[in-house]
Amino acid sequence: MAYDPCRPVHYVIRPDHAPPGGDALVHEAFARVSDVTGLQFVFDGATDESAWEDRPSFQPDRYGDRWVPVLVSWQTEAENPELAGRVAGLAGSAIVEPPGGPRVFVTGVVGLDAAAFGDMLADPAGVAGARAVVLHELAHLVGLAHVADPGQLMYPTTSTVLDFNAGDLTGLSQLGGGECVPNV
Ligand SMILES: [Zn+2]
Repeated sequence: MAYDPCRPVHYVIRPDHAPPGGDALVHEAFARVSDVTGLQFVFDGATDESAWEDRPSFQPDRYGDRWVPVLVSWQTEAENPELAGRVAGLAGSAIVEPPGGPRVFVTGVVGLDAAAFGDMLADPAGVAGARAVVLHELAHLVGLAHVADPGQLMYPTTSTVLDFNAGDLTGLSQLGGGECVPNV
């Protein structure tokens, strides 16, 4: 399962609660995931959309006649209880299956714990870890699952791994090589 590599993946950021430096981190991470997947990401600007659960994939009044862009939100733990405790980010994508296939991702959501990132980014020693969390979440967005190897960035818990390693890169490269699905 992957995004259609023949069209750009659009994203928007809901800026509420964004920590200083946070949005730049998100843009850098999308650029990095683009480098390693070949997928193209296009920033469409800020949004005031705050949907999370059951987000409609088609919202023509807000986004026009297309799949909604990926929504990146800086969230409080009150707003998204799934970010409580040590969880600093969550991400996933929505699937469409046209008649005859293939199943394809058309949009997604990324939730980042505003307070946790505020703490990480306020400490020069925390910036690399913050970047690693965003990379991990964007890898989930494009379809990578967790792995059991603690040497990979897709290991489920925070570790000393701060960038994609060989296993991550192999998976990401494959996720950039999905089928083109022009009829979706
Ligand atoms: Zn994860």
